[in-house]
Amino acid sequence: MNRKTASLISSFIIGAAVLSGCTANPSSLKTSVSNKEEVVNIYSDRHYDTDRELYSIFEETTGIKVNVVEGKSDELIERLSREGKDTSADILITADAGRLHRAKEKGLLQSIESKNLETSIPENLRDSDNQWFGLTVRGRVFVYSKDRVNPSELSTYEDLANPKWKGKILVRPADSIYNQSLLASFIELRGEEAAKEWASGIVANMAQTPKGNDRDQAKAVVAGIGDIAIMNTYYLGKMLNSSDPAEVEVAKKVGIFFPDQTGDGTHINISGAGVTAYSKNKDNAVKFIEFLASEKSQRIFADLNYEYPANPAVEPSDLLKSWGEFKSQEIPLSRLGELNQRAVEILGEVGWK
Ligand code: FE
Repeated sequence: MNRKTASLISSFIIGAAVLSGCTANPSSLKTSVSNKEEVVNIYSDRHYDTDRELYSIFEETTGIKVNVVEGKSDELIERLSREGKDTSADILITADAGRLHRAKEKGLLQSIESKNLETSIPENLRDSDNQWFGLTVRGRVFVYSKDRVNPSELSTYEDLANPKWKGKILVRPADSIYNQSLLASFIELRGEEAAKEWASGIVANMAQTPKGNDRDQAKAVVAGIGDIAIMNTYYLGKMLNSSDPAEVEVAKKVGIFFPDQTGDGTHINISGAGVTAYSKNKDNAVKFIEFLASEKSQRIFADLNYEYPANPAVEPSDLLKSWGEFKSQEIPLSRLGELNQRAVEILGEVGWK
């Protein structure tokens, strides 16, 4: 299949909107000299099967080969820094707005012009200079033991620091970016002192020394180690639909609670992407991010990874809809990056392992 045919099929499948503004290829001269085939090179810290599936669909529909390096976001940012102009990466994908902001601050991303992305991704979910775009949204919520906790007792993140929950709280270790961003949101909303007091209260109420990932916290609730776990929404969705019956069993035994609904709202974060500053395949990179923001891809993120679509034209999965609508924090997500270092320091100061 030649590139033109692939492109036609692509426009048919993905939809005309995706290709508007990005079909022209001013760098074709440059790429045709060095490339036999069109490629897009991705550094990603997402670790989900949905993404691998989307890479395949993109390759099939556009003829553009997708090369992926998976790693932790800090390592990938460090690598981009080190490689500088020589990097082969065209796109950085992370599961945290704070890390995308950090990459921007280090000059590792570039602004891109895409009417398509400006239409499909709401302003609050993308960088003000269009250096990164949120593609999926996740809430950091409570899951609780249906046997031992009455949801009417649950309210805010602050409340989990109340001594009445002593020995009951489960949460993963301090090195989790998800916890760092949650605390960063706390600093933004309440100030450093209150954030430190809260983190210290959580440490005092922990059911065990933090260990494992988000799913392990839900498992520890069902094992009776604690009563309330802090975890990201999509992990509960994935557990409920897991091929491992034990995970399904655990997920069925816990309830989900969206904190702070009468206050600032539940803490959300995004997973998103930006084009690298020294991308050699910029048109393909933009095309790929537009593809991820398209309704078709957003449907896959929603239905198979249980994330909230960033594109408002796409509804959440039936499962997520069954959890009800919720109010989310409205702080600019770049603040999570700006406050990350202070959050990490506070976690250390209060002894959050
Ligand atoms: Fe995750």
